[in-house]
Amino acid sequence: MTAEPILLSDYAPPVWLVDQVSLTFRLSPGATRVLSEISFRPNPDRAPGAFRLDGEGLRLIAAAIDGAAVSPVIDASGLRCDVPDRPFVWTAEVEIAPEKNTALEGLYMSNHMYCTQCEAEGFRKITFYPDRPDVMAPFAVRIESDLPVLLSNGNPVAAGDGWAEWHDPWPKPAYLFALVAGDLVAVSDDFTTASGKQVKLNIWVRPGDQDKCDYALDALKRSMKWDEDSYGREYDLDVFNIVAVDDFNMGAMENKGLNIFNSKYVLASPQTATDDDFARIEAIIAHEYFHNWTGNRITCRDWFQLCLKEGLTVFRDQQFSGDMRSHAVKRIEDVLMLRARQFREDNGPLAHPVRPEAYVEINNFYTATVYEKGAEVIGMLKRLVGDDGYKAALDLYFTRHDGDAATIEDWLTVFQDATGRDLTQFKRWYSQAGTPRLTVTDDFSNGRYTLSFEQKTPKTPGQDDKLPQVIPIAVGLLNPNGDEIVPTTVLEMTEARQSFTFDGLAARPVPSILRGFSAPVIVQRDSTAQERAFLLAHDTDPFNKWEAGRALAKDVLIRMISEGAAPSAGLLDALHRVAGDDSLDPAFRALVLRLPSEDDMAQSLVDSGLTPDPGTIHATTRMLKTAIARHLSDLLPRLYADMACPGPYRPDAGDAGRRALRHSALAYLSRLDAGAQATAQYAAADNMTDQLGAFACLLEIGAGAAETRAFYDQWADDRLVLDKWFALQAGLAAPERAASTVKTLAKHPDFDWKNPNRFRSLIGAFATNAAGFHTPDGAGYDLVADWLIRLDGVNPQTAARMSTAFETWPRYDADRQDMMRAALSRIRAHPGLSRDLGEMADRLMGA
Ligand code: ZN
Repeated sequence: MTAEPILLSDYAPPVWLVDQVSLTFRLSPGATRVLSEISFRPNPDRAPGAFRLDGEGLRLIAAAIDGAAVSPVIDASGLRCDVPDRPFVWTAEVEIAPEKNTALEGLYMSNHMYCTQCEAEGFRKITFYPDRPDVMAPFAVRIESDLPVLLSNGNPVAAGDGWAEWHDPWPKPAYLFALVAGDLVAVSDDFTTASGKQVKLNIWVRPGDQDKCDYALDALKRSMKWDEDSYGREYDLDVFNIVAVDDFNMGAMENKGLNIFNSKYVLASPQTATDDDFARIEAIIAHEYFHNWTGNRITCRDWFQLCLKEGLTVFRDQQFSGDMRSHAVKRIEDVLMLRARQFREDNGPLAHPVRPEAYVEINNFYTATVYEKGAEVIGMLKRLVGDDGYKAALDLYFTRHDGDAATIEDWLTVFQDATGRDLTQFKRWYSQAGTPRLTVTDDFSNGRYTLSFEQKTPKTPGQDDKLPQVIPIAVGLLNPNGDEIVPTTVLEMTEARQSFTFDGLAARPVPSILRGFSAPVIVQRDSTAQERAFLLAHDTDPFNKWEAGRALAKDVLIRMISEGAAPSAGLLDALHRVAGDDSLDPAFRALVLRLPSEDDMAQSLVDSGLTPDPGTIHATTRMLKTAIARHLSDLLPRLYADMACPGPYRPDAGDAGRRALRHSALAYLSRLDAGAQATAQYAAADNMTDQLGAFACLLEIGAGAAETRAFYDQWADDRLVLDKWFALQAGLAAPERAASTVKTLAKHPDFDWKNPNRFRSLIGAFATNAAGFHTPDGAGYDLVADWLIRLDGVNPQTAARMSTAFETWPRYDADRQDMMRAALSRIRAHPGLSRDLGEMADRLMGA
């Protein structure tokens, strides 16, 4: 299946602009009527041209221009109509069926409630419209329904029995439109902005969920305050509404004044949500709120500019979480995520630039590259221009582009104008795909230390030759006693090969390279275990301190796998020292004790020129875990006892860090005591972090049958907790049993596969069980392919996203490659495949 790609180079401004939109919704599950009244005028900056509106799956009842009926020509993607060569008012009435909308784009129903999802191109499933982000207009909306709560964007203007009217004064693209109607209750608060404006805050949920909104509401208020303090950005409407819905393809959506959230990222109580859930809720609440300025007030000219809003907003939410919690821990977690998702993407057939130049289905480009690498690029920019330069540039961005649909060129120009820095070469970060490899060598003679770097970016689909990029390399030097002799300095690499010197050193220093992970690159340097252990003990940069331990663990695992080496005493001693060092943040210690994931190890083996075998990686990782458990056996009970949090559960970073370290101790302990301590913790747990943590330890060692039943009985009525029950079993099943476990669970009456969260919790979690997914018989590939084909029939967007389970095929041996490609061919050949999954299958196979 091949659809024509859309190209950045084909961009042309809209022929018609919109001055005002009025919409009336007469809601009915099977036959909703949408009346639109749209004021069009010719775009003065463009030659006149045909009038075309986007529209999909709409039944046109009537259309008129300035009140006179017209008969447009309708096709599968919209309509054409003859129109006068001057401003005019378009009116139309269409009918749609929200209850039949299983794709969850446009207007759909979730648990008897109406809701919308319009980004990227869902508005065209609601009414005929120029559905592109560079067409911005104020919206007035009237909703008619018997349901008690009727919401749309902007401010409420009037309401009566069975109707409500909303007005959003801020011009916006259609992708930010939202409507919600349902039997909902609000948990509310107020916020006073810096300039004294009162804002009403509401989180709307189904009755019964009110007790799970406090944390999200608090995170919202902290986000609003933070954006005022850090970026000088105030909220701009009288109300800010958030709605939690159970059926949602993504995490959440920043619709103007009416954010719609996957309920997983709103609802939390100590009994039902883990520390990680609380942290994610805080980050996503912040993310969607921050979009009000970076995304909504300043939006994207076209979808190729997606990173303009997403990279920047991720960067902002990362800064926020760092301020709320610990910058060091947050940075490590972000890099773990980046490597697990974005580096993986960059190393496979789906690699694409931060700003792609072609797409078939834009939904397929909401990727780790656009989001996470997009944020890294901004972090580099900030490092290069400094904090003051960054602040000046952002201030200029907001004043110059407020109300605009902007581009990456606009964004970079603001930095050039504010700081005087030429960013021509830097811009390559937006256009070149692939993760640069940075090879480092060093030399010491006559008191002069030289660091030499070479950068090389591997080929990626459609891009063979890469030009050198600007790489900010933050380095520090330690002397052999472990004292820092050169504090963090940013070396700006611009050439393919470049050296930097440090003079006047008494002895050969130990370099700490790429501090804070100052660029999204892979550092390749021959280093000894001693040097890694030295940096783990002495580096003043917390990221590189952690990185040294991680590299040490990877080296050890690679030698265990490739040479059958024993777990190295150096690593075991180093872990003992860090784990027991009470001067270190518990959250940091927990991160050091966490071994590289099996997926991460597979890629590391490839990078070392080896072919990974997921079964061997799994078995070896377990062997190393047991060796660590034995080596730390004296320490684990003390850590477990010391890290208990007295008093009632609190989700703050301090307590969460203690629980993370305690959980880490429990996981190792479980390998020594056959799960005795975990069983006790499970029975005594009064919060989900402790309960799920103990449950996971038991499943990891092949125990926990009684807890599996008990957990279900306790939580059968809580959708979000039940998702965890599915996910843990699928994710932690022993490789040889994983596929059959998933098949059994798929028959469970609670496996409601049309719900994206539930689908991800079973099929998605199974795909992350590396050894289970990649069993040599190919059963895992078949299972996932079957489910993707099935899901594609009802929800193409989520099916397409999950097809990334197959993106690692080039890593593996010929047999696995053949089987993974065969699964992809089978998907691709399926009759009636969606454009979403079709494009993914094509790209995954390198077509
Ligand atoms: Zn976003």
